[in-house]
Amino acid sequence: MTISQVIQQFVNLAVNEKKLDELDKIYVTNRLLALLNLSDYTPTETTEQSDNLLELMDAMVQYAFENNLIDDSSSAKEQMEAAIMDLITPRPAILNQIFWNKYENNPEEATDYFYALSQNNDYIKTRNIAKNIGFTTTSKYGDLEITINLSKPEKDPKEIAKARDAVTSNYPKCALCMENEGYQGRINHAARQNHRIIRFNIGDEVYGLQYSPYVYYNEHSIFLNEKHIPMKIDRKCFNNLLSIVEIFPHYFTGSNADLPIVGGSILAHDHYQGGHYSFPMEKAQAYATSSLKAFPNVEVEFVNWPMTVIRLRSSNKDDIVDASELILNHWREYSDEDLDILAYSQDTPHNTITPIARKKDDQFEMDLVLRNNRTSEEFPDGIFHPHPDVQHIKKENIGLIEVMGLAILPPRLVGELATIEQFIQDQLPLEEVADMHQAWAKQLKTQWQEEGQQLNNAVDYFIKNEVGHKFERVLEDAGVFKLDAEGKAGILRFIDSVNAI
Ligand SMILES: [Zn+2]
Repeated sequence: MTISQVIQQFVNLAVNEKKLDELDKIYVTNRLLALLNLSDYTPTETTEQSDNLLELMDAMVQYAFENNLIDDSSSAKEQMEAAIMDLITPRPAILNQIFWNKYENNPEEATDYFYALSQNNDYIKTRNIAKNIGFTTTSKYGDLEITINLSKPEKDPKEIAKARDAVTSNYPKCALCMENEGYQGRINHAARQNHRIIRFNIGDEVYGLQYSPYVYYNEHSIFLNEKHIPMKIDRKCFNNLLSIVEIFPHYFTGSNADLPIVGGSILAHDHYQGGHYSFPMEKAQAYATSSLKAFPNVEVEFVNWPMTVIRLRSSNKDDIVDASELILNHWREYSDEDLDILAYSQDTPHNTITPIARKKDDQFEMDLVLRNNRTSEEFPDGIFHPHPDVQHIKKENIGLIEVMGLAILPPRLVGELATIEQFIQDQLPLEEVADMHQAWAKQLKTQWQEEGQQLNNAVDYFIKNEVGHKFERVLEDAGVFKLDAEGKAGILRFIDSVNAI
């Protein structure tokens, strides 16, 4: 195809797929010509037809590269891709109007529209996400979910060096600032020309709804403050989470904790995550119920989950905000030395909460996951953090998504698990297995020889399930009150002390 034919097919297809208004056809054609530095347009008949907008986008990016309009770096290509797809994306003001018009009819229709648009215009990297490996494994706490993350493109060393030497800019201040909407991008900042944000109010503050470009689950959303201010778990956070599920009742929303080790990666910008998805933790049932003296109308449950979850339920939103604040403030100062839980080391605080909110019919639900980030000589990475013997699978922070039962594991595991599979089947010597996995690989081999083969399962299924068991241990390590007799007595003491105020 000639470049004119590519442009013509791109514009026609966008109109046919209702991603572009017929009236904008000439305008967008001319903007694409300008982008590709073309002054002439001669689309001739061709039998070659593409029914894929992203393929046609690729052809334009390839043209730009071959004609020296861009260099061969992945950031230059991403910027050109975003610039092309921006032309078939409504401007923010128009998009917000369409969204809120649909919302009037039905909130789900509005988010369906915005999610589809964010995928169709390649803001959500669907082709990369398709590379992820996902599976479900069984555990004592119900099914757990595992994703090996292969979606984030790896930069080559040349580009990493270039990014390091690039002039630093303080605009946009971070990846979650609203100023990313439409931003061209640069070598050390993602291209966001095709990025759009839905605005809404919580009280007198403006928040934005956007999707994660590398979604880990259905409609993986980010709710961000219009201002670049730090995250904080407090009364306002609880109120905001419940307000968001009031506005988008089909979504859950949660926040990462606000301390290092147990928190998320971006603590500098006030934001929450959410989505149209039921995580394993949500499905986990109560093993016991309790109550709060000050809030007789709030149901209190202890959840059968490896991390410590206090679940509150009520039809009164303010009661849940008040009860959550009471538990948070008490937890911040709470120590239980027998269980290694200390609220402070000198002046450094250790206790915080990972909160998750939902709305179910007329009931609000708030899961308060108790966290502690203290380290010790025995556990320098964290006492309530994956311990050394499971770090070969996961050593990073246990953030909101993991807390809820979805492990995001690094790409290195694909190759590493393949060597373990070959070792188990006597196709590779132990030395070929990465050092950090060798003890585990030996144990798996024995296990496979003793019981695995009789189960008639494929060896890769067996290994995946064992990865799930490691993740189960990871979550158990991160739990402050364990689900044994001491831990269960411990959480009762904690609630008693809340009620004693
Ligand atoms: Zn920011």
